Amino acid sequence: MQWEAVIGLEIHTQLATKSKIFSGSSTAFGAEPNTQASLLDLGMPGTLPVLNRRAVEFAVRFAKAIDAELARRSVFARKNYFYPDLPKGYQISQFELPIVGRGHVEILLEDGSLKTIGVTRAHLEEDAGKSLHEDFHGMTGIDLNRAGTPLLEIVSEPDMRSAREAVAYARKIYQIVTWLGICDGNMQEGSFRCDANVSVRPRGDEELGTRTELKNINSFRFLERAINYEIERQIEVIEDGGSIVQETRLYDAERDETRSMRSKEEANDYRYFPDPDLLPVVLDDDFIAEATRDMPELPDQRRARFESEHGLSAYDASMLTASRAHADYYEAVVAACGDAKLAANWVMGELAAALNKASLEIEQCPVSATGLGELLGRILDSTISGKIAKQVFEAMWAGEGSADEVIEAKGLKQVTDTGALAGWVDEVIAANPEQVANYRAAEADKRKKMIGFFVGQVMKKSQGKANPQQVNELLRQRLEE
Ligand code: ADP
Ligand code: MG
Repeated sequence: MQWEAVIGLEIHTQLATKSKIFSGSSTAFGAEPNTQASLLDLGMPGTLPVLNRRAVEFAVRFAKAIDAELARRSVFARKNYFYPDLPKGYQISQFELPIVGRGHVEILLEDGSLKTIGVTRAHLEEDAGKSLHEDFHGMTGIDLNRAGTPLLEIVSEPDMRSAREAVAYARKIYQIVTWLGICDGNMQEGSFRCDANVSVRPRGDEELGTRTELKNINSFRFLERAINYEIERQIEVIEDGGSIVQETRLYDAERDETRSMRSKEEANDYRYFPDPDLLPVVLDDDFIAEATRDMPELPDQRRARFESEHGLSAYDASMLTASRAHADYYEAVVAACGDAKLAANWVMGELAAALNKASLEIEQCPVSATGLGELLGRILDSTISGKIAKQVFEAMWAGEGSADEVIEAKGLKQVTDTGALAGWVDEVIAANPEQVANYRAAEADKRKKMIGFFVGQVMKKSQGKANPQQVNELLRQRLEE
C-alpha cells in the first residue's frame, strides 16, 4: 500500500514591537524574570487592555505580503484555560473573526517547480508566560516577562505532502516575516515556533486521515525530523492494524521521536467568547495605506527581478534573496562593479564560504559591499586576475585595507609589460625542449590543449601575476615560429 502524508502548519511569530500587545511593558528578551510584567501582564483585577497599534500594522503588512483577505473588522476573544503561566485564566486571541483571512505563498520544490500553499488565516494574540522547572527544587518558577508579547499565529491549509515541503513552507513564511521586519526571526529565543499537524492516507484517497499535532518546534531541522518520524510512526500503527488517535505529541530532539502529550478527550474546551474589554478592530483605508506605505519589494518579486534584470538562474536568484540583507548586499556589489554575474559568483562563492567559516551573518561581514565591488572592478579592468583577487579578498577580510591598498602594498598588480612577459616565456621554452618538440609535432587542434602546460609554467614564474591572455598570445607566437 502506498501512503501519502498530509501536513498543515500553525506558526507562531512573535511580532517585533517594542511593547506588549495590551500593555506598555517591554518585550525585550533576556531580562530578569518578572521585571517586564506590568499589573496587566500579571492578570490583576481591574486592569484593562489597550491594543498596540503597531501589532495591527504588522498584521496588515503580512496580509498584503501573502495576498490575503484583510478583515475590515476583527474581534478579540477570550480563550479560557487554566495554567500557572496564564494568571488571567484566559488568553486573548482571535477566533471567529481573525484579522487576516485566506492568502497564499509559493514554495520552490526540489525539481525546480513552484507549488502554491494556502494560508487559511492569521490572527493576533498574546503569548503566555514561561514555567521554569530547573533551579526550583520541587517547585515551578513562573516568569511573566513573555506574557502579553504579541503573536501572529499563521495557520496553513493541509497542503503539504512531505516534511521537505513543510520545511520549505515554514522557511518561506520565515523569509516573509523577517523581510517585512515584523519578526526578528530569532528561533533560539522562540520568536518563530511551529506546530505541525500530520496525517497519512492511502494515496489517491480524497478524505483526510486522523491527524496528530506536534507542538512547539523551534528549528527547521527538528521540524523535518519530527514530521518524518511521525509519518513513519503513523504508517506503522495503521499497517499493524491499529488506528491513529487524534492527540497532541511532543517532539523529543534528543531521542528523535514524538511522544503523546494529551489526547482529544483530555483536550480543553476553551469556551471562546468575545472579550468585552476590547473593541472590535476596525480598519479604514487610511490605516491600511499608512501601514503598507513603506512596504519593501517582496522576496518573490525581487527574485523575479534578479532573474530578468541581472540574468541570474532561478537557483542563484533564490539564493541571493534568501534574506533582505543578502539581496541588498548583492545589489550594492553589482552597483559598484557593474557585472551582475561576477558579483553573484563572488557573493555565493568566496564571500559565503568566508562568512560560513567565521560563523558570521552577512550583516556582520567585515568586507563591505562597495569594497567587494571595487575588488571585482580590479578583475574587470585586468589589474589583477581572479586568482590573485582571492588573495586580495583574504587580506581585505583580515582588515588590511581596501582592494587598491592591498594590491599596492603587496605588489599584486598584474604584469602586462611585454618585455617581462617575453622573458618568462623564453625561459619556459628553453627549460622544456621535449614539450616544445611535442607541441610542434602535434595537430593544430591538439595544440590548443597542450599550450596550457606552458601557460601554467609562466604563471608560476610570475607568481600568478602575468596577464594570462597576453601569455597565451606570446607563447603561441614563439612556439609556432
Ligand atoms: P485546531 O483548531 O484544532 O488546531 P484546525 O482545523 O484549525 O484545528 O487545523 C489546524 C491545522 O491542522 C491547520 O494547519 C490544518 O491545515 C491542519 N490540519 C487539519 N486537518 C488535518 C489533517 N487531517 N492532516 C493534516 N493536517 C491537518
Ligand atoms: Mg491548533
